[in-house]
Amino acid sequence: MNNLSDFNCELAFITDECRKYIKYGKAADYIPVLAKADVNKLGVYIISKDNEYFYGDYDDLFTIQSIIKPLILLLALQDAGVERVRSLVGVEATGKPFDTFNYTDLALKSEHINPMINAGAIALCTLIKGSTFQEKTNRLLDFTRKLAKNDSIEIDTTVYLSEKATGNKNRALAYMLNAYKMINEDVEELLDCYFGACSIKVNCKDLANIAFALAHCLPNEIINEDDARFVNAILSTCGMYDGSGEFALNVGVPAKSGVGGGIMAVVPFRMGIGVFSPALDEKGNSVAGKKILETISKKMQLSIF
Ligand code: GLU
Repeated sequence: MNNLSDFNCELAFITDECRKYIKYGKAADYIPVLAKADVNKLGVYIISKDNEYFYGDYDDLFTIQSIIKPLILLLALQDAGVERVRSLVGVEATGKPFDTFNYTDLALKSEHINPMINAGAIALCTLIKGSTFQEKTNRLLDFTRKLAKNDSIEIDTTVYLSEKATGNKNRALAYMLNAYKMINEDVEELLDCYFGACSIKVNCKDLANIAFALAHCLPNEIINEDDARFVNAILSTCGMYDGSGEFALNVGVPAKSGVGGGIMAVVPFRMGIGVFSPALDEKGNSVAGKKILETISKKMQLSIF
């Protein structure tokens, strides 16, 4: 790798070059508060074993949204073990949007959902330890802080309340899980945990630190290697919504995006990357964010394939 200042210059150049892709996307608008995001924001943070590189709006805060899903999966693996996780959710890509319903008349089964779609993530919240759902949410918040090495991470109450007020599709998904006896928890409390977790505020550096922990670059006491491998495998097939195949071809590393505009990319045993740009494509992935990752991946030969 180049020395620190050289690569920071290159990263600045790459990021500025990718700015032109912002116009091909738009901010999420399923809740009014996200629609207000400034689409001109663009930031990146890279943490490798030896260095940190950053550029642009890397310390701007945005809500983690679906990027909490790998953390829900990780905490469920830690709290309940792989067998209980595998009995509740499948591991196959659905090829459908993240909030999809089962359109067939067939009974919903665990093998129909995976941890990176809403139904799977909501189901997995039930496996997180805590005698109340508030406690589960707090454990997810603490887990995020620990992985991001940032104790100041908080929940955005406005986004949380907005998700709760408008989240009828998620409510329907949770009731469907309940109707098919995959969960038997109080649906509203369970959704509070999921909505709260999606509303955690992070920046690019936080995402890079979380990705660095998942990349398992250092002997790490928070995530064991088997859990990291499980999560990274699911991320590489299902992490970028129904655009995961294209992302695997173009970037080639496990990653998770969220409708807040963040993407967290894990380069196993090498680095963690966080990018932020709120203009999304029709699948919910940050357009400029994907381009930055694509360019960095080609430049640094990051693809694992
Ligand atoms: N809170 C969002 C939802 O569940 C997360 C969406 C996302 O980032 O994919 O609808």
